[in-house]
Amino acid sequence: MTDVVVIGAGQAGLSASYFLRRRDVDHVVLDANPSPGGAWLHRWPSLRMRTVHGIHELPGMPFEQPSPDERANEAIPSYFARYEQLFDLPVVRPVNVTQVVDDGALLKVETSDGVWTTRGLINATGTWRRPFWPHYPGQETFHGRQVHTADYQGPASFAGKRVVVVGGGASATQLLMEIAPVAAETRWVTRREPVWREGPFNEDYGRRVVGLVEERVRAGLLPHSVVSVTGLPLNDQTRAAIASGALDRKPMFERITPTGVDWASGEHFDADVILWATGFRHDLDHLAPLHLRAPGGGIQVDGTRVVADPRIHLVGYGPSASTIGANRAGRSAVRELVGYLAQGVSPS
Ligand code: FAD
Repeated sequence: MTDVVVIGAGQAGLSASYFLRRRDVDHVVLDANPSPGGAWLHRWPSLRMRTVHGIHELPGMPFEQPSPDERANEAIPSYFARYEQLFDLPVVRPVNVTQVVDDGALLKVETSDGVWTTRGLINATGTWRRPFWPHYPGQETFHGRQVHTADYQGPASFAGKRVVVVGGGASATQLLMEIAPVAAETRWVTRREPVWREGPFNEDYGRRVVGLVEERVRAGLLPHSVVSVTGLPLNDQTRAAIASGALDRKPMFERITPTGVDWASGEHFDADVILWATGFRHDLDHLAPLHLRAPGGGIQVDGTRVVADPRIHLVGYGPSASTIGANRAGRSAVRELVGYLAQGVSPS
């Protein structure tokens, strides 16, 4: 029995735990990972600190910029580990939360390691465990290899291959820039024409982008990822890749055949590999027994508070799905939830 259970120890969960500690709230953080790092633990080995867009430090502890050559899946987990230790955060791992059920005034959090009973819940489970694979006709007939960004381990396994990369986000362009120099041939396909963004990603632009995602989740619609609405950065590296043809975008193909992909125009590309850089969805299946979803398919939230059940907050969800957003969400979720629990109200 505890006052608050936090599920997930990525940026959002650690930030929430930090603010709970500061207010002396009895809580536990349950994390499925074997060690600190959240999703960063699983990023591909070739993702270096120079290529991540900018990591906002966790509250209360500076992130000393590692060397640009350092692997993101080492530098950030090591920062998280030091953070957990410094603030003595009550993280228990590996613990996989299988479901959360309503138990009158309390919530029962069922896990791979027993049941926790709690008055409040902060869900910070991110998206990494739910890669999104769209479906296209003929997909199951393809004789080559199909992989998702979540499985990507670096360009070596694409050497000499004909590769189709699907997706309009930053992961697709980053992976193309790694793969194109070693592959026999590449094609980049996206549903919409890519939007290139010149200039710095400043506060003002960031606020507008977050506002767009916020509108959707307030209405109970499925969130778009913040990254998907920021546009693609136009910098020296992407300019060079556009000039070399590596980022020459084609519209989405119509179908997949045993040997490759076909466009509606009749054009065909023989492919050995299809790489789906098609993003992730929020990992929320364990909340299904609570029936929180709105008719629009999303969970309606006001700030971070779930409208259908004020004992529950979602952090790192929708507009707060970035390292800076996750920090702010952790702070505001704790402020609101602690205030709510202090009233000793039972949920309606
Ligand atoms: P996560 O880091 O995913 O943490 C979730 C934690 O919850 C994990 O430890 C997981 O094991 C655990 N968990 C999940 N389900 C359960 C369960 N059922 N039971 C127990 N534990 C569970 N953002 C930036 O601001 N700057 C960047 O440069 C940047 N680069 C990115 C690059 C890539 C390739 C990607 C995919 C994203 C990037 N982002 C970036 C976005 C950023 O990574 C995320 O928004 C942020 O790190 C997510 O933090 P989180 O705490 O919400 O989730």
